[in-house]
Amino acid sequence: MAANGNPQASLSEILEKVHAIFAEELQLDPSAFSNDDDLSTGLGLDSLAIYSAITEIEDAYQIVLNDSDISGISTISGLAQLVFDRINGFVSSLSSEADTQEREYHRLTDFAESPEYLGLRQRMAETFPEGFNPYFVPHDSLIRDTSVVNGKEVINLGSYNYLGMSGHPETMQAAIDAIRKYGTSASGSRTLAGEKTLYQQLEKAIADWKHTEDAIVCTGGWATNLTFLSSFMHDGDFIVYDALSHNSIAEGVALSRAESKAFPHNDLQTLENILHKVQDKYNKVLIVVEGVYSMDGDIAPIPEFVRLKKAYKCFLMVDEAHSGGVIGDHAGGCDDYFHLDPHDIDIKYGTLSKALGTCGGYIAADKEIVEYLRYFMSGFVFSAGISPPLAAACMKAIEIIRRDNSAATKLHENIRYFVRRCKEEGMNTCLAGESAVVPVLIGSDQDAARLSAELLDEGVFVPPAMYPAVPIGESRLRFTISATHSIEQLEKAVSSLAKLMHEEGFLK
Ligand code: PMP
Repeated sequence: MAANGNPQASLSEILEKVHAIFAEELQLDPSAFSNDDDLSTGLGLDSLAIYSAITEIEDAYQIVLNDSDISGISTISGLAQLVFDRINGFVSSLSSEADTQEREYHRLTDFAESPEYLGLRQRMAETFPEGFNPYFVPHDSLIRDTSVVNGKEVINLGSYNYLGMSGHPETMQAAIDAIRKYGTSASGSRTLAGEKTLYQQLEKAIADWKHTEDAIVCTGGWATNLTFLSSFMHDGDFIVYDALSHNSIAEGVALSRAESKAFPHNDLQTLENILHKVQDKYNKVLIVVEGVYSMDGDIAPIPEFVRLKKAYKCFLMVDEAHSGGVIGDHAGGCDDYFHLDPHDIDIKYGTLSKALGTCGGYIAADKEIVEYLRYFMSGFVFSAGISPPLAAACMKAIEIIRRDNSAATKLHENIRYFVRRCKEEGMNTCLAGESAVVPVLIGSDQDAARLSAELLDEGVFVPPAMYPAVPIGESRLRFTISATHSIEQLEKAVSSLAKLMHEEGFLK
């Protein structure tokens, strides 16, 4: 018997099993790759496939491999050695493969010659062989149901203005009034010189809307996740997060000093296994999920996560970037949609840049958490406050959303229409259903980029979502629906795409 109760297994037996698990995950003949091939590049495995394979390995040997355990490992041999060391109770003989290898350095003074820059150029040439680059398309107008690209009005199905709050007459007026009163900048960190009554009113409005005791606002949505996770979770804590989490969560996890581990998307059983295995360890355990996933459009089973966080004494954080202001009877987000108790979600994260129509991020939570963040969240303390017109426009947007449900009602009518029509045309809409994110699966990066360009020629703007935002071979056109769209505009987009997909053989 090995140290952790596993039956004794030799290194070669483990190697064979790990190899077989990867072969199954890749759906490849085991002889097609070697134990020393690079897992992330040589095998064409995306990180989601790696997470699934590692979950299987953990189940097979009843161990937990945290992000820090596997971070330096790039081959099946390295992984098998780690498993062998772990089940035999050794402090790993390879804390990282990199440590055991002599590192070669190549001093660079010209960044244009660097491997990272040359890699970017090569990827651009391969992905956009026809020259059209779907990134950084300028929109020189308000972005609502339409926007102006190259001087031409197009139907805009790529923005996050879900409820039309950006460009709403009342939010614009609130912004103008705030500029007159406060100017355009906070002119300081709020902790010292930049505080305003306006900001305190905004935080109160967010806390009331999200049914929490308090809230704190930072200048960027991405940065709020990063700074919250790294300031709230410390050495001795543990973060367990969905493998499909947004980059801002993954980066925040990496920046925090806590141990961490990803679980396969919405895999409650694997999450429970992990929580069970770590229940005697760590000071704080934080489960991080999203309300609506930004690349697939699915709504997470939040009540199940609430059940687990209660059973295993954890904190639960939900990123409401795409659920706040979208789902629920009053577009209030996950608690509204699932009729949760206000305390079921401990940390409600949201961005101001989507349904709320401005820019920034918030954490809504119990007053003790928010009080701590006001003094210790570095991205708040050491950064200037949000710009006053954004704060005022955002506060107005919350007021409108709470007093009038008509935009949310129209948004859902539009979503239902668009998803139904895509399905009728035979398109694969991934996990879309009730959220404003409706992806249409295409396949390769090149095909998704080309179709995006062709649709723009037809007067419809929709950006492609490509690797690494989605797994290799699963690139998609990611439509985002707004309350401002008319049914005619949605119909024009679906029928234009259907025509192109038929012509190019994507639809039979
Ligand atoms: N979380 C999720 C799930 C997101 O999709 C995004 C942005 N797309 C963010 C956080 C960051 O928000 P922002 O763009 O406002 O910085």
